Amino acid sequence: MTANTDIQFLKGVGARRAEILKSKGIDTVGALLRCFPRRYLDWTEITPVKTAPYFENICVKATIVTPIETFETKRGVKIYKFMAEDSSGFRFTVSLFNQYYLANKLNTGRKYLFYGKFDGDFFKQMNSPLIKEVGYNGLEPIYNASKNMTSATLQKLIKTALSTVEIPEILSDDIRKRNNLCDINYALQNIHFPKSRESFERAKKRLVFEELFCLQVALNVIKLKTHTKSGCVIKKNYFDEFQNKLNFSLTDAQRRVVGECLVDMCLGKPMSRLVQGDVGSGKTVVAAALCYIAAKNGYQSALMAPTEILAEQHYKTFLSITENTGIRCALLTGSLTKKQKSEIKQNLKSGQIDVIIGTHALIVNDVEFQSLGLVITDEQHRFGTAQRDKLENKGINPHKLVMSATPIPQTLAYILYGDLDISVIDEYPKGRQKIDTYTVDSTYRERIYNYIKKFLAEGRQGYIVCPLVENNDGLDITSATEYYNTLKDGAFAGYSLGLLHGKMTAKEKEDIMARFFSGDIQLLIATTVIEVSIDVPNAVVMLIENAERFGLSQLHQLRGRIGRGAHKSDCILISDSESSDTKKRLDIIKNNSDGFKIADYDLELRGPGDFLGNRQHGIPEFKIADIFADKQVLLETKKEAEKLLETENVLKLPENAALRAEIIEIYRKLK
Ligand code: ADP
Ligand code: MG
Repeated sequence: MTANTDIQFLKGVGARRAEILKSKGIDTVGALLRCFPRRYLDWTEITPVKTAPYFENICVKATIVTPIETFETKRGVKIYKFMAEDSSGFRFTVSLFNQYYLANKLNTGRKYLFYGKFDGDFFKQMNSPLIKEVGYNGLEPIYNASKNMTSATLQKLIKTALSTVEIPEILSDDIRKRNNLCDINYALQNIHFPKSRESFERAKKRLVFEELFCLQVALNVIKLKTHTKSGCVIKKNYFDEFQNKLNFSLTDAQRRVVGECLVDMCLGKPMSRLVQGDVGSGKTVVAAALCYIAAKNGYQSALMAPTEILAEQHYKTFLSITENTGIRCALLTGSLTKKQKSEIKQNLKSGQIDVIIGTHALIVNDVEFQSLGLVITDEQHRFGTAQRDKLENKGINPHKLVMSATPIPQTLAYILYGDLDISVIDEYPKGRQKIDTYTVDSTYRERIYNYIKKFLAEGRQGYIVCPLVENNDGLDITSATEYYNTLKDGAFAGYSLGLLHGKMTAKEKEDIMARFFSGDIQLLIATTVIEVSIDVPNAVVMLIENAERFGLSQLHQLRGRIGRGAHKSDCILISDSESSDTKKRLDIIKNNSDGFKIADYDLELRGPGDFLGNRQHGIPEFKIADIFADKQVLLETKKEAEKLLETENVLKLPENAALRAEIIEIYRKLK
């Protein structure tokens, strides 16, 4: 029997249990051993009855000092009752309900371990404790039970598996030594049945390392595979020509990142790179530079954005840069007419368009290219990998660049984008204004309106952001539509206001945005549709209602809409929330302007699932690792994975066979 043996052949399993186990994804004996306990009962620490706390799980060692009496309630429940006493001389009562089998095994005068909670006021008592013979000394594993398989059954099967098979070692002696890790069989034995806290910790450390290490190896294998394909070669560097088209110079960081990309693109290996940069660090122009250079070298580029508003804005930026250069840009979104779409598609196919900018409309099947050489996705967080692949497959190994819309903490980036190289724009364009942020409660609202009016009087523009579009009965949340109506006829009567929310049609949004860009609208009342990268430098004041409703990264992203021009900007957060948690969060926003730092806090406060939102976020499910608690291990494993693949990138040495098998498995899941 080996780790790969079908689970049905393990002693004690059989056809029915095999079916249940397989429905949980446990197909083999090896998989069963990697079904780790959810928690443990600690039988190692004996608490004296005298000082034992109430209502907390504890373990006491006591002798049964009375006969076991049986009662039956009117409803037919059998109660077995007796008293026990520990060496501190304290007595307590124990009641067992309908546990005939257990009660029958107990003997007056003998000592047992009792695990449970005390209650009772005058006299301590324990209802239905777990009971074991004295001598058991360990952490008892509790597994995720299901209706048709108890934790106890799993415990038994795992015990059998542990004594039947030897699991092959995945981590080389070298790696284990360097990182002070125990071997796999010790680890499995002690994660399931730890002899002590220390052996549990050792086992866990190794298994966490292994899990993160395997993921890092798999991601790096994907990266290496991309790099060994041949991509289109950029022969001539038109960077200076591009720079001359701009009315500002790129920051050093922008130059460096463009350079990092060009190194890849000139070598003819397909680039696969993530560009990280804070809001306003100028990622778009980096993308534009690469598209420009690709076009001049005869390749088409595609830039995919998550929303129409953003795609249009990028399109305008690109148009202004490519004016009189012969480079042809086009915009493809869902709201074009059929005729417009088909014309664009034809021109793409025949090579009449050099740079296409669009939304999801770009990945439709009948969009074809003549010579797609560069694919850029500007992501809200992450288009599904499948969507990205779909666009990339429209070319032959095109270079790909992913731009993160908002900074992602390093740990998450290594997991979500570990298959990509990472470049960071860690500098803002010069002359950027500092944004002052204030947090107030709603009693200040009138005063703030007056404050906003001062800005408007100077010719500036502003935003008011509200969380939801329609009034949700019972929820005290400011609704954008209602809010807009109230302001229009009230506090801001006589001013030019606009309303922007997600339920408007693309055309309506476009009109409003155009009027805001042109300055015709002074104050834009909006929901988070404006979150993604609206760029109006003249907008310098932002009021965010119900600020407690937003995530930290989202607030930072929203705030990034102001402070983009020559004027000093102010952001005011209104919240009536009394919660200390909210106060803490808003203070973080108030006191920090570095998006990477805010993202770290956000991840810490919310956990990775919420941080990335409900959308398909691509974080693999970890069996034992916790990317937050195990951040340091993640960094170590990344180093070890890279080191290993430097010399053994196809994992063909016999000693790496087990690792290779594991990587193939992970790879299958990632794709
Ligand atoms: P983000 O990184 O958030 O996507 P954008 O690419 O939208 O940022 O850039 C924000 C603003 O900064 C834009 O108006 C852009 O034209 C401007 N910008 C970008 N790079 C520079 C630069 N080097 N100098 C001055 N302004 C710049
Ligand atoms: Mg952007």
